[in-house]
Amino acid sequence: MTAQLIDGKRIAAKINRETADACARLCEHHIQPGLAVVLIGDDPASRIYVNSKEKRCLELGIYSDKRVLPADATMDQVLRLIDELNRDSRINGILVQSPPPPQIDEEAVIAAIRPEKDVDCFHPVNVGKMLIGKTDGFFPCTPYGVMVLLREYGIDPAGKHAVILGRSNIVGKPMLALLLQKASGANATVTCVHSRTPDIGSFTRQADILIAAIGRPEFVTADMVKPGAVVVDVGINRVADAGAAKGYRVVGDVKFEAVSPLASYITPVPGGVGPMTIAMLMANTLKACRLQHRLGE
Ligand code: NAP
Repeated sequence: MTAQLIDGKRIAAKINRETADACARLCEHHIQPGLAVVLIGDDPASRIYVNSKEKRCLELGIYSDKRVLPADATMDQVLRLIDELNRDSRINGILVQSPPPPQIDEEAVIAAIRPEKDVDCFHPVNVGKMLIGKTDGFFPCTPYGVMVLLREYGIDPAGKHAVILGRSNIVGKPMLALLLQKASGANATVTCVHSRTPDIGSFTRQADILIAAIGRPEFVTADMVKPGAVVVDVGINRVADAGAAKGYRVVGDVKFEAVSPLASYITPVPGGVGPMTIAMLMANTLKACRLQHRLGE
């Protein structure tokens, strides 16, 4: 068996087209979704992420408001900015690029965002809504993107054993919550393993759907995968490669060449889960706009 590739670029492009079409329809009613992205400091990687979010907003017809605060910004400055954006009617979604500098209490900043504008789904209100299965909040962009990939490839998690590697608040835990829901497109039996789990392979070998999100290059090897499993690789890791133009290459948490011959489906890195994250952020911003204008989901 050779796995079918799950093409995240193609599915992200489809989601983006749907978002752009919906924005165009809203525009006829003089409504434009708006996203504010807050960058604190000048971390080069964060700057790249923020710029790519701004670019995608412009492409899809979403109003973009990029706010940059200096690396020595105080909590007071950040909270004042959040308050301003909370009250700005052009802004439907607010995202604070992570990680902020150490003097900034990220949890307190997230808690200050109006839950209706928390398109990243980090606010405790939205995390709670997701956990209890309510759909009028938001789902975090990366796990949401994984759910959409499964749906688009006709992979129904119902009754399957999904094993998640990693328990971060951004990927692992919400992935668990989404797959476990008593809802169409979910209904999986879920196991979540982490750095304190002994003999991880004994769990991953039971997985019908294996989701790797630990940030360890090529951690998942062929002997850890059940033949026919669906393998979703969330990991994005840079490894030194003298032969590459940039001196490094990007690999996932799964040893792709070894695992793809025995999986049924597999996401490549790059080009799998990665492109879905920004696509789902844009979709969440559109949803926030619709909800704030009482247009339904
Ligand atoms: P994180 O916050 O560092 O969490 C990593 C998780 O993996 C933790 O739960 C940790 O366990 C667990 N872990 C680490 N090493 C392990 C090991 N050797 N064995 C078992 N478990 C281990 O990372 P994250 O933010 O979830 O991101 C995970 C990966 O996904 C990274 O490569 C990141 O770049 C990537 N990512 C990609 C996207 C995207 O758009 N595609 C978005 C977000 C993240 P403990 O909890 O016990 O410490």
